[in-house]
Amino acid sequence: MNKPLIVANWKMNPQSLKEAKVLFNKVRKACPERSRRAQTVICPPFIYISALKANGAQDCFWEKKGSFTGEISPVMLKNLGVEYVIVGHYERRKYLTEIDEMIGKKIKACLRVGLKPILCINNISQTKGVNKKVILAFEPISAIGSGRSFPVKTAKKMRRSLASFKIVLYGGSVNSKNARDYILEAGFQGLLVGGASLDAKEFISIVKSVN
Ligand code: PEP
Repeated sequence: MNKPLIVANWKMNPQSLKEAKVLFNKVRKACPERSRRAQTVICPPFIYISALKANGAQDCFWEKKGSFTGEISPVMLKNLGVEYVIVGHYERRKYLTEIDEMIGKKIKACLRVGLKPILCINNISQTKGVNKKVILAFEPISAIGSGRSFPVKTAKKMRRSLASFKIVLYGGSVNSKNARDYILEAGFQGLLVGGASLDAKEFISIVKSVN
């Protein structure tokens, strides 16, 4: 099996660049981008990407440039050295009414410039028409940010039903106690970690536990 892909989604945290640097440096010291154990991606808020030289982003727009106030283009991210972009996160679907059509355009825009999109889904219908080479992150709504672990057996069934996709991450209340099970028992190729990625010690333990 390839090395697990562990993605940290910092969401709208932390509140200062100073704190972001402390967290980033602690994590990167123990978990280089590509280590013996795992490949790790850190997705901070956009405004910290440049200073941290982070390899992940939490979203992008679908156009390359132009009059799209407040948006960030995939080309801009690529030019900063970003490699992975989370798209279609449940929180964006919920709070910003992102729909599959917009998300589809974002995926295509990422692929056009050589970025690797990580498509977040919570049901199979959201994979309709999606290129099989795209990395998926299965995130059951009940487990996102709730601290309630999703049953590994149910996650395993979901992984099986997504068999046509080569890389599928599991996300939703992952911690250092359950991380290993989603990979070794349920058969996911990695993890998307939200809350626990803001605690350097816990995130490092997750990375260490999976291999
Ligand atoms: C997420 O929102 O992508 C996520 C997995 O969050 P948490 O780990 O906090 O449930």
